[in-house]
Amino acid sequence: MVDPDCLFCKIVKGEVPADIVRETERTLAFRDINPQAPTHVLVIPREHHRDAVAAAIADNGLLDEIVREAHQVAEAEGIAETGYRIVLNTGPGAGQTVFHLHAHVLGGRGLNWPPG
Ligand code: 5GP
Repeated sequence: MVDPDCLFCKIVKGEVPADIVRETERTLAFRDINPQAPTHVLVIPREHHRDAVAAAIADNGLLDEIVREAHQVAEAEGIAETGYRIVLNTGPGAGQTVFHLHAHVLGGRGLNWPPG
């Protein structure tokens, strides 16, 4: 499924440019336009799902693939051993602004807990 008005669907289709770091049959990973850490990559499914919960309900296994890809990104960025954060903002109150599932992969600096 594709949402013609969705920014990340447009990135999947190549209509909006992105700095792509990894691709699989079902996922895409690209650098966040406004990075919050030395490594800040977004891993998304090619198919449109509004958030992680919708994806988990609709497609058994897709979230596993997103997490595996997040780890591949961390390996490639050299942050897998030190540690990194995978963030799934879910809903506007949690800061979700783009309603196409995306896992933030953040690392390369110390990350505080709890997050802001
Ligand atoms: P959210 O706040 O929904 O969890 O995360 C959306 C993320 O998408 C933000 O970190 C924001 O910087 C990023 N973003 C928004 N527009 C674009 C864009 O056009 N290109 C890229 N690469 N990232 C974007």
